[in-house]
Amino acid sequence: MNKMSNSNNLLEIRDLVVKFKTEEGIVNAVNGVNYSVPEGCSIGVVGESGCGKTVSAYSITRLLPKNATFSGQILYKERNGKVTDTLALPAEGKEIRRLRGRDISMIFQEPMSSLSPVHTINNQLSEAMILFQNMSKQEARERSIELLDLVGIPNPSRRVDEYPFQFSGGMRQRVMIAMALARNPRLLIADEPTTALDVTLQAQVLKLIQNMQNEFNLSMILITHDLGVVAHMVDYIYIMYLGRVVERGKVVDIFDNPLHPYTKGLLNSIPKLKGKRGERVSSIPGTVPSTYVVPVGCGFAARCPYAKEQCFKELPDRVLVEDEHEVSCFLFNGGEVKEDAANA
Ligand code: SF4
Repeated sequence: MNKMSNSNNLLEIRDLVVKFKTEEGIVNAVNGVNYSVPEGCSIGVVGESGCGKTVSAYSITRLLPKNATFSGQILYKERNGKVTDTLALPAEGKEIRRLRGRDISMIFQEPMSSLSPVHTINNQLSEAMILFQNMSKQEARERSIELLDLVGIPNPSRRVDEYPFQFSGGMRQRVMIAMALARNPRLLIADEPTTALDVTLQAQVLKLIQNMQNEFNLSMILITHDLGVVAHMVDYIYIMYLGRVVERGKVVDIFDNPLHPYTKGLLNSIPKLKGKRGERVSSIPGTVPSTYVVPVGCGFAARCPYAKEQCFKELPDRVLVEDEHEVSCFLFNGGEVKEDAANA
């Protein structure tokens, strides 16, 4: 059924499952993910490495390797209102390439490996505008210079003819942002956009992405392992663990009233400025289980201090605990907060 559950949504991911066939066995990367992006809103998808956050986002534009098998639906509302299931489109077909070229842009983790080292910045920025916006070479060049200026590159009319190796790491990430904007997108997917940058540049680049999102009224999916990064950047947060969403809610609810023990663990592991001298930053005990085996019960059970027998045998349902705040955990039952959960 290709119908959005909410007419305000630009994107809905439904029951997404992605597996990779490898020589060692089947990697269960995404085990039934659901999330939605309302038009003009931004969501943060947060979790440890290997939790499936990047794979689920890359599935939107079918940027999956050939050994991937998948099921579910990814519904995208196009400019004319038509709803398209991008997961059902051929990976190299015209339609998905049109969406990648015009509607959905990505900012990748590592700008040096995402930019072509043998083409000038002008060539790389202009390509999408010439192909998908019918601009002449001259028009695309002028727009490229404007975009470089917009993202804070000094001397843009000179630097547009340079190569990526002539730019610093922070400047390359700014070029990636300009390249994402050149497509005039409606949805921006930013995958750990500041991982390769030092701390001072991280703040600048995040601020720039936020400004661009507001200026162009973009919807955004920000993927990160760092809850601190999303705090001021997004409207909703989805917490992922072992290929599933375990909690989702408005930013204020996730920070003020975290429900899932994993979310609490993530929040406790953020260093605090007002912490006592010598106080250790807490960490979540144990490691993420292997993705070769999908656990029968709750994926977090082996690390959870509140795990009971039931947690190892059954998968907890999603429960709406308060307005737009859902959790998958047996501590919460039928919308009622159990006493032990309130004290957890
Ligand atoms: Fe912990 Fe059980 Fe909740 Fe999983 S379902 S987070 S193991 S209490």
